[in-house]
Amino acid sequence: MDGLTTEQARLRDRAREVAQEAAAQAAATDRTEQYPWPMVRRMQEAGLMGLTIPREWGGPGLSYFDAALVIEELSAACAVCGRIAVESNMGALGAVMAYGSPEQRRLAAGLVLGGDKPAICITEPEAGSAATEMTTRAVRRGDGWVIDGVKHWITGGGVSRLHLIFARAFEEGRDLGIGGFLVVREGERDPPGLVIHRRIPSMGLKGMPEAEIRFEGLVVPDAMVLHPPGGFARGFGRLMDAYNGQRVGAATVALGIAAGAYRQALDYAGRRHQFGRPIAEFQGVGWMLADMSIKLEAARALIWRAARSAGPAGFPDRLAAAQAKVLAADTAIEVTNNALQLWGAAGYSRENPLERMVRDARMFAIAGGTAQVLRTQVAEQVLGRKLPQTRDGFLRQAAAEAG
Ligand code: FAD
Repeated sequence: MDGLTTEQARLRDRAREVAQEAAAQAAATDRTEQYPWPMVRRMQEAGLMGLTIPREWGGPGLSYFDAALVIEELSAACAVCGRIAVESNMGALGAVMAYGSPEQRRLAAGLVLGGDKPAICITEPEAGSAATEMTTRAVRRGDGWVIDGVKHWITGGGVSRLHLIFARAFEEGRDLGIGGFLVVREGERDPPGLVIHRRIPSMGLKGMPEAEIRFEGLVVPDAMVLHPPGGFARGFGRLMDAYNGQRVGAATVALGIAAGAYRQALDYAGRRHQFGRPIAEFQGVGWMLADMSIKLEAARALIWRAARSAGPAGFPDRLAAAQAKVLAADTAIEVTNNALQLWGAAGYSRENPLERMVRDARMFAIAGGTAQVLRTQVAEQVLGRKLPQTRDGFLRQAAAEAG
């Protein structure tokens, strides 16, 4: 019924096996707030890192859809593992595989297949949703660029090796546009000028560090600049096209967490007795479970559609990715909350997984485009017009149209 090929069903089974091990350590990862390196090695052994890396660079060359199957299974057990699978298949890796030079692709493929989860550095303290207002600068010097600025909420800061840094490029005082610059940390050593300034304490997904990273005269040679078609002038748009893959991945983690919580709720409703009957027999409980199952299927359908919209060398469709992420993020918040509700006080206890799942689900309506900003993106596409967000945006648009 799910239309998977034999290979895809096998891949999902392989992910399910690894997910059982992921489930066994998820509570400890949450409690200790340690990055789950043993699970990374397990995922690597099982061939679940770098699934989307083309064969010519040493990967199996699978699709975003295949990766989504794996991400859902891992996330249902351990959302941190699910996020590692996203970033080792999509995001910065996708951008390098699409736009990178052969050397950059070889470098990124080697790192990811070796267990790295690349970091993508866009957000700044004063430039969140308004990402193009970033003030991190890359200034041309000799055969390279010198980067200065601050990024925060960088997932994997302090554990990731490959970094894709977004910065506004300047040459002889001229603003060229936003570009992508690649930097590699060697093991635990930061290159001069890249400072992991602090870890930001977060509500959920506690095994995944979120960091503030400072760039202080960080030198990047020309060979490490990512050149999408159209150069710096169109760089931001093209790099954000690659980000549509990351959005599908994030939506899939949200779906996985919700699916895991739903299974917990279904199981508990069958074995918890009150008034001399399993609570599953109460209509109020049954309807909650029914709504959960409907919303999960709807979110999965949108995610699969978005993941399948990616061509062999391309990224998922922008509208489909935004729609999928909005629905999956909302669904994850609702389903995890209702699953906790069905567990009663036991759901509220830190001895059981549901309170962790509620916390883990919360970020997907914020990170990688908030629920509000993505709705505006969807509105732009269904209306077929730009919806400027600055106060003078419509006036400037009208002036440009008037010629
Ligand atoms: P703001 O932009 O300040 O928004 C605040 C509120 O205003 C939100 O509710 C928002 O929806 C609303 N708002 C803002 N503008 C509009 C508008 N035009 N219309 C309607 N509502 C609006 N960034 C990275 O670069 N790399 C990462 O790896 C990364 N990982 C993250 C991981 C986590 C767990 C989190 C929480 C964030 C991460 N981020 C990362 C940052 C994330 O992308 C930003 O938090 C997000 O873009 C929103 O920016 P902000 O938090 O500054 O919120």
